[in-house]
Amino acid sequence: MNFQNVEFLISAASPRDFPGKRLPEIAFAGKSNVGKSSVINRLLQRKSMAKVGDKPGKTVHVNYFLLDKACYLVDLPGYGFAKVPQAEKDRWARLMEDYFAANRITLGVLIVDYRHPPTNNDITMAKWFLDSGCPFVVLANKKDKLKKSELEPNLAAIRADLELPESCPVIPFSAEKGDGRDELVKWILNAVKA
Ligand code: GDP
Repeated sequence: MNFQNVEFLISAASPRDFPGKRLPEIAFAGKSNVGKSSVINRLLQRKSMAKVGDKPGKTVHVNYFLLDKACYLVDLPGYGFAKVPQAEKDRWARLMEDYFAANRITLGVLIVDYRHPPTNNDITMAKWFLDSGCPFVVLANKKDKLKKSELEPNLAAIRADLELPESCPVIPFSAEKGDGRDELVKWILNAVKA
């Protein structure tokens, strides 16, 4: 795997759209605007593989990409848009429940904002990953926006607020600068090989 060969597969609106063929699955989650698309683009060393800046109110989908013909890269729908109608929030919750219930995740990647304490939605999402029993990593994104004095305390706060077990790493990340990409790649390669 060299993260060079990426094909868009399908925007799944319900479980019947999830690919029938089973491959290792790397699932990316994060609140809107946390930089999820930027992280995926950084991982793939592309400018615009995943769409940057999804608009609130857009119908929620689970986006599947085939990566190096070896695994699925799954872009889960963002959460926490301020002005989303309740019906759309319900759709989001149902689709996520269906996705987690399908038990497909090989490695979860939860992206949070390194600058701020996790939101309630982030905490819920971490619980979702924890309860699913799948291995997951947390990316603390936008590291480039922090003062040096904030790096350690913010990392500790993220770990404490999300109640992460020792086995779950929090990786300082900057989609902008590329910090943390190598470590993310290592985790993905290990997960896919295992
Ligand atoms: P998404 O909604 O989670 O997919 O977030 P986007 O990838 O669209 O990013 C939201 C905004 O945050 C954009 O303006 C990005 O340029 C910016 N952004 C994303 N990652 C970083 C980062 O690591 N550092 C900085 N400074 N900005 C970032």
